[in-house]
Amino acid sequence: NHTSVNNLSNLLNVRLEKLIQDLKKLGFTHASSNYILTKGYIELILQEYNYDFEVNEVVNSSNVYDELKSPMNPRFLETRPPIVTIMGHVDHGKTTILDYLRKSSIVSQEHGGITQHIGAFQCVAPISRKLITFLDTPGHAAFLKMRERGANITDIIVLVVSVEDSIMPQTLEAIKHAKNSGNELIVAITKIDRISNLKERAEAIEKVENSLIVNDIELEKIGGDVQVVHISAKTGENMDQLEESIISLSDIMDLKAEKNVKTVCEGWVLESEVKKAVGNVATVLLKKGVMNKGDILISGNSICKVRAMLNEHGAQVTKALPSQAVEIVGWKSLPNAGDEVIQAKSESIAKKYVARRQHLLQEEKEAETVEKLNDERVAQSETKALKNDIDEVDEDEEQAEVESGPKDVNFIIKADVSGSVEAIVQSIEHLGNDEVKCNIVGSSVGVPAENDLKMAKITGSTILCFNLDNVPNDIINNKDKIPVKQFNVIYKLIEDVTETLTDNLKPIF
Ligand code: GDP
Repeated sequence: NHTSVNNLSNLLNVRLEKLIQDLKKLGFTHASSNYILTKGYIELILQEYNYDFEVNEVVNSSNVYDELKSPMNPRFLETRPPIVTIMGHVDHGKTTILDYLRKSSIVSQEHGGITQHIGAFQCVAPISRKLITFLDTPGHAAFLKMRERGANITDIIVLVVSVEDSIMPQTLEAIKHAKNSGNELIVAITKIDRISNLKERAEAIEKVENSLIVNDIELEKIGGDVQVVHISAKTGENMDQLEESIISLSDIMDLKAEKNVKTVCEGWVLESEVKKAVGNVATVLLKKGVMNKGDILISGNSICKVRAMLNEHGAQVTKALPSQAVEIVGWKSLPNAGDEVIQAKSESIAKKYVARRQHLLQEEKEAETVEKLNDERVAQSETKALKNDIDEVDEDEEQAEVESGPKDVNFIIKADVSGSVEAIVQSIEHLGNDEVKCNIVGSSVGVPAENDLKMAKITGSTILCFNLDNVPNDIINNKDKIPVKQFNVIYKLIEDVTETLTDNLKPIF
């Protein structure tokens, strides 16, 4: 993920002097043989050298699970239900529409039980008998997170506009969102039961439609392709039309997903919580594949052996299909809403991948620290240069103190178990004052190894070991004289850190 200029010159088989010269041309004015380059910069340089490089495909913490995914197989593609989000101004009737549809779905499935809000539900369109998935909580933070990652799980947006109030600020926001996200749109002009006089009702609807047209919504009546339905979620009038409009649009969109037992399941966590008596549960919206009881899933750092799957009526299901959301029981730890879910072949593979991701995350954090240090060094040398300039101009002038915030004193933490690592980080990360502060460059479980020494050398860190009694001698007596200290008691470690910080204070004359 990062390497020195010297190392890169070896890798590229380019003379060091030439590489440094080229780097300076590229804008790295402070390039020297020990200058550390991060991944982004390395890519830039490789591009300059016309390398057909693989750095682009470097495995990182955000794509490491991609290796588990099965390659796309067009033969497995089958039609899937549309995923619909309802948007519109507050009080225009979004919740009432969802409630109506949810109730109608209970009747159609003869469940009669209490529906649970699990983040999404499905209902059967009354005429075509096809399924539609509605997302329950569109304003949910999870959706923002997914969108930030470029994942748009919605296929169709139903824009709700009250016939009484017409377009309001949040209606405009929803229109903007629909345009930006590239989602298909259907307009539902609602609360039509509020105007009993049919002539007045038609006039009010006409007015809302004209306002929509003014706001660039290409309604069918002006030759566009956006359908409009006039509904009342209270009386249920034309709700069937709304559902069938969604189906006819999704037929045109030809929505498909791989639905085969061989397809590795992929999905998204919509919601997660700890439930009494059940433990960790998470609603997963399935993107592809067929999910079964007993399957192994990964999401972030969480692993799950699917113990039970429940639908929105609280009923157990034996399998879940694309575009379906199910509440899954069996998570060893709670996954985060908005995170991707992926299936693994076995629990040991899942564990291996989670460990690998954590390792990569750690490395990325370290690389970030190195980059920050480089920036600081550059800033320092620039201030020095500036100071020299000032001194040259006016040698009599007293040297100005250059203030640049407290000085970082760097540490690397190594401990026996992750609990110790966390405890130590928490108890020392805030230590310091206006002049010096504790900066943790890296922290991980295990005996320090060569790479820890390397990192300590680059960053000038002290390595602190906790509850590790098998640190090799050649690590303790390393050739670079990097301090490797061992502790078994936390307060002794804290004392030592405080002492090291004090040693780094400027001497007072
Ligand atoms: P949201 O904020 O968009 O979710 O709006 P709600 O669904 O909470 O509706 C706001 C108010 O409008 C509630 O008092 C609903 O009962 C009422 N309402 C919603 N839809 C209709 C409708 O079609 N007809 C009538 N008469 N009232 C409605």
